Amino acid sequence: MPDIIQILPDALANQIAAGEVIQRPASAVKELLENAIDAKATEIKLIIKEGGKNFIQVVDNGTGMSETDARLAFERHATSKLRTSDDLFHITTKGFRGEALASIAAVAKVSVKTRRAEDATGTQIEIDASKVVSHEPCSCPVGTIFTIKNLFYNVPARRKFLKSDQVEFRHIIDEFQRVALAHPDISFYLYNDETQVFQLESTILRQRIAHLMGAHFNSRLVPVEEATDFVKIDGFICKPDSAKKTRGEQFFFVNGRFIKSPYFHHAVSNAFEDLIEKDTHPGYFLFLEIDPAKIDVNIHPTKTEVKFEDERMIYAVIRSSVRQALGKYNITPTLDFDAETAFQIPIKKNISQVVQPTIKVNADYNPFKKENPVKKEWESFYEVAKKEPMKDLLANQWVDLQTGEVIDGQKKNETEELLLDLESKVFQLFNRYIVTGSGNSLWIIDQHRAHERVLYEKFLSQANQGHSQMIMFPETWELNGADMAAVNEILPDLISSGFDMEPIGTQAMIIRGVPADATGMDTKNMLETLLEQYKNAGKLTAEDRRELVARSLASKMSIKSGMILNKPEILQLLRDLLATQMPWMGINGKPIIFSKSPDELDELFLKFK
Ligand code: ADP
Ligand code: MG
Repeated sequence: MPDIIQILPDALANQIAAGEVIQRPASAVKELLENAIDAKATEIKLIIKEGGKNFIQVVDNGTGMSETDARLAFERHATSKLRTSDDLFHITTKGFRGEALASIAAVAKVSVKTRRAEDATGTQIEIDASKVVSHEPCSCPVGTIFTIKNLFYNVPARRKFLKSDQVEFRHIIDEFQRVALAHPDISFYLYNDETQVFQLESTILRQRIAHLMGAHFNSRLVPVEEATDFVKIDGFICKPDSAKKTRGEQFFFVNGRFIKSPYFHHAVSNAFEDLIEKDTHPGYFLFLEIDPAKIDVNIHPTKTEVKFEDERMIYAVIRSSVRQALGKYNITPTLDFDAETAFQIPIKKNISQVVQPTIKVNADYNPFKKENPVKKEWESFYEVAKKEPMKDLLANQWVDLQTGEVIDGQKKNETEELLLDLESKVFQLFNRYIVTGSGNSLWIIDQHRAHERVLYEKFLSQANQGHSQMIMFPETWELNGADMAAVNEILPDLISSGFDMEPIGTQAMIIRGVPADATGMDTKNMLETLLEQYKNAGKLTAEDRRELVARSLASKMSIKSGMILNKPEILQLLRDLLATQMPWMGINGKPIIFSKSPDELDELFLKFK
């Protein structure tokens, strides 16, 4: 028998390794961006076409490479970042395994153009499935341009496994975001199919977050800062009222590297405890600095998992620093009317002597000891309201809200007075609030948020399926291939929300019916907004997807601030709101109801002073 063991040829070994490091276009993007950062670039451009399947380009203004280095960079285990095994314990660069370029080059057509500041000419190398096809001098700016074409063209099984362009592009955005967040001092630009998606100038973290995630984030962020002997934490958490059901705004970085850690995520969620609804996730952007000797980033080829020596201690520090930050933030809303008069507004006596405004705060305030006050007040309202029968406006009969039973005869007479009382106390104010008094409280209800809550729960419950309002002339919604794929992904959710629609051919949907609440609205605009939000949402579970659809539709279809409501509409809205799971909280976590008891009103009028 001859010996049968053979050493794999390099090209094959690289292809196998590539399977581990490069799973999809986004993984190549991550490696290239990290290389540019390791090369000390201050400006990085990422250009994507067709979801990165056929074209990825990264242009940096970093150190560039010498001719020899440019060639060596594509060899396996070729790295400039690690020399001895000791270095492995002091890793400060993103890369160190020397695997990425060899892996990418094994499964694509790659070209690099690079020049160092000290060289007059640059080098251009083209590699096709690990084979160098050209290597010559070229003229190019200082820095490096990597171009990856036809990813996985020689590994059809992998290529087939790739998702739609648009799903692949979403993965790329995920990686881009992580890298851009970790390096606010570097300018990043992202282009997709010739359109600019991000233009992020060099800035500070807070602004980078706002540029990436949306300007509304700026007011949500609460700073976190803590330094102990073995770990330093800084960054931001998002205020509790912006916690979301969907995930995607959770970022941990360790020594500038994005990591996934369910364990540390738990530490943050745990710190938020009673401040957020169950099943919602707080947003955060937390940066940990730890002695590189105490962590091991080498356990996973894509390096998003890290092992820590003192995991439990880090957990404790994360939890306590987040709680502290929340505590500081929560002092502000407890300012009462009296305390507010303690703002010392400087009088313009002498301009050079402006006094710093000071705020009197309750230093003993502990946000974790208290129940959600809005919720508690609402519950008392709910108790009262449940006892009061309401008129079913459609059937024109009296109904007991608690039991749903029709009330007639004697009982009707007894309760008519009560209801008339409530009806006479309901009115709309400023075309945006509903004012009423029930039991022992004054209530001011935000009409838009109330209706949003009502619709949101309706769409989530699938109660609308089959209850479409047919439209007289069915509408055609033209879509490009990628968007069509996305619409098909959310089609089941649209149907259970009350849409009656289906694909015709590969480039359009036909809309025959819409949810009853959407009659007369601009359906296409509504659907396009939803589609855009869905495309930007990143990876979603089926449940998160349905949540996103419900949220988006609810917000588009709801009664807007400024709409005039008549009394039956107001009463209907109140009754629908009462039937929801969380009448006190808007779908964005903000209050729906503001209440004051007679005692509290007396206090406002300083009656006991
Ligand atoms: P690693 O990053 O783990 O060292 P890579 O395969 O990603 O391995 O890169 C190999 C080497 O190529 C790097 O160590 C670096 O010296 C060089 N290199 C890669 N990309 C760049 C770049 N954009 N600018 C300068 N040098 C680069
Ligand atoms: Mg690298």
